[in-house]
Amino acid sequence: MFPSVTPNVCIVGAGIAGAGAAHALRDAADVTLLEADTVGGRMVSGHRDGCVYDYGANYVDPPNDRVEERFRSVVGDDLAETTGDVWIFDESGAIEEGRPNQGVKFSGRDGIDQVVQAFLDASGATVHEHTPVEHLARTEDGWRVTADGDDVACDALVVTPPTWDLFAGADWTADFRDDLVAARKRQSYRTIDSVALHYPFDIDVPYYALVNTDTEHAVGWLSRESCKPGHVPDGEEILIVQLSPAWAAGRPDATPGEAADAASSYAATLLGDDRLADPDWWDHERFIRALPGDRVNPALFEYALEHDLGLAGDWFAGTGRTHAALETGLDAGRRLARDR
Ligand SMILES: Cc1cc2nc3c(=O)[nH]c(=O)nc-3n(C[C@H](O)[C@H](O)[C@H](O)COP(=O)(O)OP(=O)(O)OC[C@H]3O[C@@H](n4cnc5c(N)ncnc54)[C@H](O)[C@@H]3O)c2cc1C
Repeated sequence: MFPSVTPNVCIVGAGIAGAGAAHALRDAADVTLLEADTVGGRMVSGHRDGCVYDYGANYVDPPNDRVEERFRSVVGDDLAETTGDVWIFDESGAIEEGRPNQGVKFSGRDGIDQVVQAFLDASGATVHEHTPVEHLARTEDGWRVTADGDDVACDALVVTPPTWDLFAGADWTADFRDDLVAARKRQSYRTIDSVALHYPFDIDVPYYALVNTDTEHAVGWLSRESCKPGHVPDGEEILIVQLSPAWAAGRPDATPGEAADAASSYAATLLGDDRLADPDWWDHERFIRALPGDRVNPALFEYALEHDLGLAGDWFAGTGRTHAALETGLDAGRRLARDR
């Protein structure tokens, strides 16, 4: 696909999918990543008062030994292995042990975004943070990408964010563009309010996290950051409470304070500990496109390659899992490099 001189590939988005694409292209192309915000995407971490907390993706759970080894070899000593299991609860708040033999759950010692950064570091790609891509144009020999008022010409492009507006507004006349926009518009995403609650004391429970299995509770997920090495000093705790998609759907205008009040009050009730209703500080993020509901037609991937375009991201995998998003990025990068 690429000419004999080293090709330029532009990647939109420095989440785990973009980092995977950069990693797969490391020996095949000069790679530039353009990221609207900061490295990590939904693998995002906060830092405050000596604490680290992952308030988007909670952990990477590799589905097999091969993928686990990939994370171990790329991230190395910066990986933090979460201790403790995930237990379950139902609509009534009744808690039970989760399934046995739960696998490893990785974060980074300095936050889960460190995992994404490690893939980027190993790729040698040039990363521009706070550089939103504003416009795409198909050219005779590749793509022109406009970001922050500047144009970047590239031989191939990888697009990872779970949005369709870049394609809808692209200067690109192929019918395939319309198919792509239509497919992405049809795809549903769930919205999740995620709240980090800090307490100046330990919380003595026998599990790392609780997940609501009947999806009828207002809390979908609750976990303890102290179970991740390096995240919380002894004698303190940070609870991550992710309110259910139904909670967000019923409160489209909820303020961060309302979400934090709800999260702390539910945490107190679920864990039977009144102190949890009153955290000494909190942080909140509403993820509008948190988790994709379904998969787009996989054939789009092949058609896109004919346009020097790699499609990657959890929107393409059709599942909100970090390892799946990584695989889409690796696939896109490998396929763009393959016919060089
Ligand atoms: C609350 C929550 C909890 C989750 N829990 C887990 C979990 O425990 N385990 C798990 O495996 N997965 C979990 N997930 C899902 C996981 O976070 C995602 O599947 C994965 O991180 C998606 O990676 P991505 O690279 O496809 O997309 P993203 O991480 O969204 O990356 C896309 C990037 O593109 C950037 N971008 C967007 N528009 C532009 C533009 N115009 N120009 C430049 N850059 C742009 C964005 O800023 C972003 O950084 C969770 C997600 C959420 C929200």
